[in-house]
Amino acid sequence: MKKSALRKFSVSLILALTLTVLPTPTAILAKDASQKEAAILAKDASQKEAAILAKDASQKEAAPTSDFKVTLLGTGTPLLSMKRFGPATLVEAGGEKLLFDAGRGVALRMSQINVMPGEITKLFLTHLHSDHTVGLPDVWLTGTLTTTGHRSTEFEVWGPAGTRTMMEDLEKAYKRDIDTRIEHGYIVPEGAKPMGHDIKPGIVYEKNGVQVEAFLVSHDIDPSFGYRINYKGHSVVLSGDTTYNENVVQHGKGADLLIHEVAVAKPEDLVNIPAFQKILSVHTTPEQAGKVFSQTKPKLAVYSHVVLLGDMSEASAHLLYRTQSTYDGKVIVGEDLMTFEIGEEVNITER
Ligand SMILES: [Zn+2]
Ligand SMILES: [Zn+2]
Repeated sequence: MKKSALRKFSVSLILALTLTVLPTPTAILAKDASQKEAAILAKDASQKEAAILAKDASQKEAAPTSDFKVTLLGTGTPLLSMKRFGPATLVEAGGEKLLFDAGRGVALRMSQINVMPGEITKLFLTHLHSDHTVGLPDVWLTGTLTTTGHRSTEFEVWGPAGTRTMMEDLEKAYKRDIDTRIEHGYIVPEGAKPMGHDIKPGIVYEKNGVQVEAFLVSHDIDPSFGYRINYKGHSVVLSGDTTYNENVVQHGKGADLLIHEVAVAKPEDLVNIPAFQKILSVHTTPEQAGKVFSQTKPKLAVYSHVVLLGDMSEASAHLLYRTQSTYDGKVIVGEDLMTFEIGEEVNITER
């Protein structure tokens, strides 16, 4: 990926967009939606520029950097995409580095922000769908090598029922490789030792001022969890894969950053393809997500795990426009390697 100039702007400087709430958004002509979407993007872009200029002018001295940081390592789905890798989110709080889900390409994305797989010793899984776990062996095993982190402590994984067994089975699957590397003295045995924890709703991790709370959500594999991460009076909430769920509303209240999944399909596909109806029933439409945002009022709402069914393009999905039929606050569509610094305001860095 070509590295473009970093764009920084302050969310608090960006005015909430207000649009007329239309009673039946699905009935809106595509053309109209395109125009509105273009207007939103144009307005958004000009506000970003204004925010950057304002920040440059008023902040000659370096802005204090927060030690509570979130990076979207993968914002995609099971679909193969070079733009959106599999679901994974890195939360850094103080000295803690917590990884949430490990989808396709997670170790590669980490290398792009100079985080070595060996630095990851704590992984939290929202659920056991493969798109959230296929990158796990890469982080776990590549992290044992000397050049990629040389992990020397156990690799702990928290997740729904089945997580402990999955980690035991993975250890068996890779036994020959692990044993050989230990035998040759290439790796530290503890660094290759996985430890799975089957969790229940509630506080599942608490250390060095960081608290991780798991809550149940509604998906098509049970149980599935969302997470709330609390640190120094600030919070980040991850919806996990879910349809509209009251638990996300309850646990999302007062969050600085709410990262939510979203899913869309063409209306005609929904009528003609029963499987799409089923898939959409276990994910969240933009209108439903807007309802969650309206009820939780996060400083910033971000879409990740962007499900586009059929051959739908992101532009034709009108995610922001559709969200604004039920939410008039700030929402953005997340991109891989977007970083959020959480403090009194939420600062965004794009790569
Ligand atoms: Zn998923
Ligand atoms: Zn899923």
